[in-house]
Amino acid sequence: MEYSEALFRRAVQVMPGGVNSPVRAFRAVNMVPRFIERADGAYITDEDGRRYIDYVCSWGPMILGHNHPAVRTAVEQAVQNGLSFGAPTRGEVELARLMVDMVPHIEMVRMVNSGTEAVMSALRLARGATGRDKLIKFDGCYHGHCDSMLVNAGSSALAGGCPSSAGVPAGAARDTLTARYNDLNSVRALLEANSGQVAAVIVEPVAANMGVIPPAPGFLQGLRELCDEHGALLIFDEVITGFRLAPGGAQACFNVRADLVTFGKIIGGGMPVGAYAGSRALMELVAPCGPVYQAGTLSGNPVAMAAGLAQLRWLKEHAWIYDDLADKAAVLAQGLRKIAAAAGVPMQVNQIGSLLSPFFTAGPVTNAAQAKSSDTEAYARYFSGMLQRGIYLAPAQFEAMFLSDAHSREDIERTLCAAEEVLTPLFLSE
Ligand SMILES: *Cc1c(COP(=O)(O)O)cnc(C)c1O
Repeated sequence: MEYSEALFRRAVQVMPGGVNSPVRAFRAVNMVPRFIERADGAYITDEDGRRYIDYVCSWGPMILGHNHPAVRTAVEQAVQNGLSFGAPTRGEVELARLMVDMVPHIEMVRMVNSGTEAVMSALRLARGATGRDKLIKFDGCYHGHCDSMLVNAGSSALAGGCPSSAGVPAGAARDTLTARYNDLNSVRALLEANSGQVAAVIVEPVAANMGVIPPAPGFLQGLRELCDEHGALLIFDEVITGFRLAPGGAQACFNVRADLVTFGKIIGGGMPVGAYAGSRALMELVAPCGPVYQAGTLSGNPVAMAAGLAQLRWLKEHAWIYDDLADKAAVLAQGLRKIAAAAGVPMQVNQIGSLLSPFFTAGPVTNAAQAKSSDTEAYARYFSGMLQRGIYLAPAQFEAMFLSDAHSREDIERTLCAAEEVLTPLFLSE
């Protein structure tokens, strides 16, 4: 703790909250963040030399585990040739081709530098394509920090208790309509009340920024039908789910076509990358082909492309790991449910594929309102107990747990042993 604490004291002097992204500050669990020095496989090591089993995995990108040899080697090779040229490179073509090959219904890709940028650009494209201004998003879904999406947003915007942000112009918020996740009627009502004005419905096909909430059967299909009926585009924000639920992402997993798909996290292999993709007809509306402007000095950066390409190639060639990931996550989820039940601690564990999260609440969690019924102080105590036992969980109730291929059955077992020590019959009275 000594070195992390010292670094944090210096950090808060020169960076807001001591961090470059709010959730890292550990405020939702009232603790001092650990400064991470290095990571390997399923483990991260902090500045004090303590090693943890990591269930954050950089918030999703490290699906193969940290410091994966295939990704590291690709980056090392790319670095030899220079860091950035501001001109087209082979890696961009290869990564775009691989994405088009792996993901159903996309024909063209534009690379950007983050998930936020991908979403912001996809929304502009949707508005440009339809000539409409309004957007529908879902309460508790997070789509990065662009103005129009900071309305009823998830992730640390949810944990911090500010449903929207200061500095968002009223105009930007006015055009964003909020529906309830897993509630098609709430979407239908908004589409009917704003007939002919909604450019797009944007959704996390599996919500993973209010804790993990899978779509109810028929929900995504229903969105597809409502969008078709009302001439709105359907955008899947697959910044988390892309290449995580399946090699083809949510479209493949749920057999529902989206008009535009946004990517981030996994496609960069740990480097800053985002992308948006769709049909040729839609994507050719983007500059320099069409009237929707979008550009980026470092977009398609050769080192980032090399990392993403190496990771996606590995995933494509080892597609069996998806079953194994889901299996390990199910063992963990089932184990947590049993431990909580035995201790009399009200807990719901939602799990799909390699994503899961425990909610400290008695009832089922299918939308943001139910997620918010969780006892966040209980989560903070659970987090702290687990951290002390060498398990690094998301430092907030409303974030997902991410599994990687590097997590072994033994790691899962160790995690459950720690949970058994933390979730005792005395846990709630502590
Ligand atoms: C993380 C995330 C984003 C934002 O990506 P950044 O790279 O953090 O800008 C957007 N959408 C979803 C679903 C995310 O989980």
